[in-house]
Amino acid sequence: MKILIAEDEAVSRKVLESRLLKWGYDVVVAVDGTQAWDVLQAPDAPSLVILDWEMPGMDGVEICRRLRQQAPEQYVYVLLLTSKSRGEDVVEGMDAGADDYLAKTFNTGELKVRLRAGRRILDLIAELFRARELLADKAARDSLTSLWNRGAIVEAMANEMARADRDKTPLGIIMADIDFFKRVNDTFGHLAGDAVLREVARRMLAARRPYDLAGRYGGEEFLMVSPGCGLDSAVGVAERIRTAIFAGPVNTADGMIQVTMSLGVTSYQPLSGMTAEDLLRAADEALYRAKDGGRNRVEASSSKGRDQSAFG
Ligand code: GH3
Ligand code: MG
Ligand code: MG
Ligand code: MG
Repeated sequence: MKILIAEDEAVSRKVLESRLLKWGYDVVVAVDGTQAWDVLQAPDAPSLVILDWEMPGMDGVEICRRLRQQAPEQYVYVLLLTSKSRGEDVVEGMDAGADDYLAKTFNTGELKVRLRAGRRILDLIAELFRARELLADKAARDSLTSLWNRGAIVEAMANEMARADRDKTPLGIIMADIDFFKRVNDTFGHLAGDAVLREVARRMLAARRPYDLAGRYGGEEFLMVSPGCGLDSAVGVAERIRTAIFAGPVNTADGMIQVTMSLGVTSYQPLSGMTAEDLLRAADEALYRAKDGGRNRVEASSSKGRDQSAFG
């Protein structure tokens, strides 16, 4: 585990360093507050820190204060070193955000257990962050197909539109709907229908490019967002998906079920002023043309953006 020692007194610094090295820590040293701050701001900074209270440049308490003002993506556990004369105003250091303090007269055993406590806290925090990420991911997923759910894919689409504007690149939007899906349920039952939905989602994921985003927009309707895709490339992605769905029947416990998919494609041109709603409508219109045109097909909408007067 990486640890930072920030201490301006050379002897004390050396003593600390040799002990920590002996205990197997990966030690980084700073000889004053400014250097310590630089280390803490660098990528891959240590998350366990022993800070001397009194240092030139920036003192330990000031570093604590600044650390706690930053976004806590990676928590830094601070053990503040206090000299005897600072013994009474430890409150100030803890108030500034130190996790623990240690008098400079510490003995080896004391240092060891304080660091162990710090590591325990850091482990718990890391676990908490992981759990939070897992929960957030779960809340954004459709439980049947594991694709993004409607809220998440629409949000992702808005983010990608903003990115398209920044990077001046187009964005492909594909609305896809399984053909005659009601018949699948009616003929084979709802469980077989669910199995088909899962397999369709799996084939969509396999056929897309790695950076294409796929979500379940509604019952048997899917929305895909393809960064960097103009209309022609997005039609290419849609065509690959259509072919993958058509390629062979889905093997379910209730029988082999052949389905097809109709897809409507549109593309967003950066800074065109089109809203997410405009795009969804354009993709949906194209999808309806694919249905009208006989299903199992891809239709594109050029959707150059509506006349400004249309916004009235
Ligand atoms: P079209 O080709 O015009 O799209 O016809 P369709 O039958 O696919 O469309 P329709 O909207 O009439 O029917 C969609 C069906 O999808 C009805 C609904 O019961 C079914 N469905 C929606 N969500 C689920 C689901 O989670 N599981 C299952 N098994 N069926 C679902
Ligand atoms: Mg000092
Ligand atoms: Mg359908
Ligand atoms: Mg539908």
